[in-house]
Amino acid sequence: MLAAILLAVTAHALPPPRLVLLGTAGGPTPKRTRAAPAQAFEVDGAVYVVDCGNGVGRQMALAGLPFLGLRQIFLTHHHSDHAADLVTLPLLAWAAGNESPVTLHGPPPLREAVRAGLHAHAFDIATRRKDEGRGDLAKLLRVHTVKGDGLVLDDGHVRVTAARVLHPPMEDAFAYRFDVAGWSVVISGDTAPSQSLVRLARGADVLVHEVLLADEAEVSRWLEKPPDHPLVQHVVRSHTSFHDVGRIARDAGVKTLVLSHFVPGDAPVDKEAVLAEIGKSFQGKVLFGEDLMVLTPDD
Ligand SMILES: [Zn+2]
Ligand SMILES: [Zn+2]
Repeated sequence: MLAAILLAVTAHALPPPRLVLLGTAGGPTPKRTRAAPAQAFEVDGAVYVVDCGNGVGRQMALAGLPFLGLRQIFLTHHHSDHAADLVTLPLLAWAAGNESPVTLHGPPPLREAVRAGLHAHAFDIATRRKDEGRGDLAKLLRVHTVKGDGLVLDDGHVRVTAARVLHPPMEDAFAYRFDVAGWSVVISGDTAPSQSLVRLARGADVLVHEVLLADEAEVSRWLEKPPDHPLVQHVVRSHTSFHDVGRIARDAGVKTLVLSHFVPGDAPVDKEAVLAEIGKSFQGKVLFGEDLMVLTPDD
């Protein structure tokens, strides 16, 4: 009898939550070896996506994430490497049959971006509604503009908290913390070293943090622009060097640091050099993010 009950419970037990790194490159230029920034949590069959770099839908397909489970999208900031498929993703999920509401969370001008994206695809949406009997996508998309630190979502399964980070010239750039059944994961988005991120990530199990693998002189050479060029200065001042990321993980007291948003995105990573540098300040586990890498509370 007990065995039968246990079997029944096990049969209906939901898989543990998982985080999939969908795209681990940084910067808007499409890359050969890594997809554009995006990650997704799958919790009890629902999918929560953080950032929608170009190709995020294809990466979801490769990861086996259900389009019909898409419920929440969180945008860290409006740079195109993170936002190119912001409306394309819910559009494709809708075209794949998702009839559930999808809420987009992110900084201003989120509402305008969503409206413009729907406008760009208005002909396709109208055609499919008439030809395929689909509902109105505009009515399924909800916009929640994130304007400051604090709680973004608590749906009973997932609690999401935001913190504004330093990513000049963007005033509105956010990191997000996900607390799921005792498992805590922070996605840094794009940020220079930020105390607000350290506070948000305090005691988290996992910190997925962006990383710049080059110093100013190397960025200058790689971009073929002088060191004082605005693009070189943006890359150096608005992102976090591998010299600093270990200290951030240590100060936050996280268990695992996952490097992602690699800049430059296509260059081979000298893992030993990066690990040696991070190891000077951080004694926890360090993972080099790869596209489609999966993390669970057991990792
Ligand atoms: Zn970026
Ligand atoms: Zn950015």
